[in-house]
Amino acid sequence: MTLAPHLSTPPADQTLTETARQAPLELRLVLALAGERELNAREQAQVEKLQAERGEGLYADMMYALTHKSFPTKQAKILWAEISQHRAELLKKLGRDPGIPLAAHDYLTNVAGLMKHTGLIEEQKFNLLATTACRDGLTGLYDKTTFTRLLAEELHRQGRYQRPVTLVLADIDHFKKLNDTFGHADGDAVLAQVAEIIAQAARSTDVCGRFGGEEFAVYLPEVGAEAGARLAERIRANVEQAFATTAYLCTVSLGVAAGQPGVALEDLVRAADTALYASKHAGRNRFSLATEVVTQV
Ligand code: GH3
Ligand code: MG
Ligand code: MG
Repeated sequence: MTLAPHLSTPPADQTLTETARQAPLELRLVLALAGERELNAREQAQVEKLQAERGEGLYADMMYALTHKSFPTKQAKILWAEISQHRAELLKKLGRDPGIPLAAHDYLTNVAGLMKHTGLIEEQKFNLLATTACRDGLTGLYDKTTFTRLLAEELHRQGRYQRPVTLVLADIDHFKKLNDTFGHADGDAVLAQVAEIIAQAARSTDVCGRFGGEEFAVYLPEVGAEAGARLAERIRANVEQAFATTAYLCTVSLGVAAGQPGVALEDLVRAADTALYASKHAGRNRFSLATEVVTQV
């Protein structure tokens, strides 16, 4: 029996830091990679792309999908081979295939002693927990910690391919006054509506987060200042229009910074923040573009 037919020729070795990932590898793909079922054409293309991008880092991704623990690439590769072997032994003893998740669970808990007190959870339930834990409860956008982690990973990835990443920061104007006038509950409802407008204005490849109390952030992978400015203006105009006929008259100010390949996260955030401050200073309800992202040494 071939347990990992799709992993026969992994590309060259990769470093530990390569375990950083944007979206975790889905368990269904791991099962396909383990030979538990046939890959369809779309999955085959996905797997080839992953192999090209991740190389041996794919072993760490697969171990993460199985256990939700991060293993260094080299250890993950060895463990994957041992688990595959363990699965073959169990198959012989049981007379039926236990499947890769159960073999992994048994091997890591009872043979290698690398996991303790493990419980069972359905993949669907786990995915729900994992996504809600990373989201801000009021707006449903990524919380600041998650957004920052995703942005850091994106900058790392785009840096390798020499591609830009643009950051847009948006802050609601005079929000304290809105709270004071209409109350905190109304303030919360406005926050949620602004978040929704931002999410709708963004493209599916853009990533949105709640960056602070009444501050939001969007990063746009692989595009420069022009696309960032277009998004900022779309958000500004849509917020203005949505509240124009309400008592709140809510508006937002924005700052846009285009990060060239290799830009440091702190420098990109600082540049967008300075541009946002310039918008506030110039009278609010507008966006400003950072002239250049300065790397501070
Ligand atoms: P500016 O135009 O300069 O940004 O003025 P501002 O009033 O929006 O800024 P300031 O930083 O003075 O006030 C932000 C307010 O946002 C104060 C805080 O109470 C409110 N806020 C922060 N988080 C929440 C929240 O989750 N819900 C509500 N309702 N208000 C919040
Ligand atoms: Mg504000
Ligand atoms: Mg603010």
